[in-house]
Amino acid sequence: MRNFFKLISIALMLIIFLSSCSINKKDIEPLSIPIVKTNFLMGTIVEVKIYDNIDDSIITKAFNRISEIEEKMTINNAETSEIIRLNNNAGNKETELSSDTFYVLQKGLHYSHLSQGAFDITIGPLVKLWNIGTDSATVPQNDLIDETLRLIDYKKLSINPSIHIAMLQNTNMKVDLGAIAKGYAADEAARILRDNGVEHAILYLGGNLLTIGRNPNGSPWKIGIQDPFSNRGDFMGIVNIDNKSVVTSGTYERFFEKNGKKYHHIINPKTGYPVENNLSSVSIISDKSIDGDGLSTTLLLLGLKEGRNVIESLSGIEAVFITNDKKVYLSSGLDGKLQITKSEFKLD
Ligand code: ADP
Ligand code: MG
Repeated sequence: MRNFFKLISIALMLIIFLSSCSINKKDIEPLSIPIVKTNFLMGTIVEVKIYDNIDDSIITKAFNRISEIEEKMTINNAETSEIIRLNNNAGNKETELSSDTFYVLQKGLHYSHLSQGAFDITIGPLVKLWNIGTDSATVPQNDLIDETLRLIDYKKLSINPSIHIAMLQNTNMKVDLGAIAKGYAADEAARILRDNGVEHAILYLGGNLLTIGRNPNGSPWKIGIQDPFSNRGDFMGIVNIDNKSVVTSGTYERFFEKNGKKYHHIINPKTGYPVENNLSSVSIISDKSIDGDGLSTTLLLLGLKEGRNVIESLSGIEAVFITNDKKVYLSSGLDGKLQITKSEFKLD
């Protein structure tokens, strides 16, 4: 008799469990036409496309999270920014940071170490000097560049991970999270969507893209790799991915022209000038967008040869390198996986 009751109660629990599963499934039934919302955040256009039948107010939650990250990490709003506080305290005192800002700063230091300073999270004074991407962009005087170069050194940023404290050792030093903050914002926005039941979605934050799950028809997403010589959204090839981030850094993203020469926004901390090698862009495919963002900028700065060495030393992260003469180099994990759609691009 006792066994009989046990059996009945197990059967009842099973019925309740299965019926709750079917309710959940119905709630998030995939859509063939997505819910699309756009916003202007972190200095770029943010677009969220959700293919689940879900209350779209969660997109507002995701946008709010991006704004929160922007406010903490921007170099343009002294009222809210922890980074401006850290920079203003340079050479003077320690700054306590929120766990968001501390995490991104620590990632920035990681990529600075990994590239032995080709990527340098203390690039701030040079970014300010050039002002690329603003109306006041100029080619600075040589002596000003030399003077500013002395302020750039990630080894002079000390951090204490147990209490989230950071300090720049010398006055006028400045951290700039411009190369990785968008990646973190994308990761956090995606986390919020997932936590709220989203199973099929794509997020765009400027050149950063993040996919959630698979395409609603069950196949991987077909993601375009940006043609670095054309407009945003014009692709040179396609990769199939699911649950991954694709971030591209390119010398085409933000630049100005002076006397027929182009000056872009990724600066070589050794020379003080925009980096010049034969790379036009690097796209990174990774789980986390913060790593894609950090690495795409880092590998662009390192150049093809060193960049390839670094990517091969990392597992689960792949790269597409495109040179100025439209040659395409893939990391070994992408072998045979990029379908080139523009014939002028040649696989090496
Ligand atoms: P985008 O912002 O166009 O997506 P990136 O992710 O490649 O491009 O980041 C470029 C930004 O990184 C610059 O605008 C600047 O804020 C910052 N930056 C420039 N040079 C360096 C460098 N050597 N190390 C670290 N950050 C840099
Ligand atoms: Mg980047």
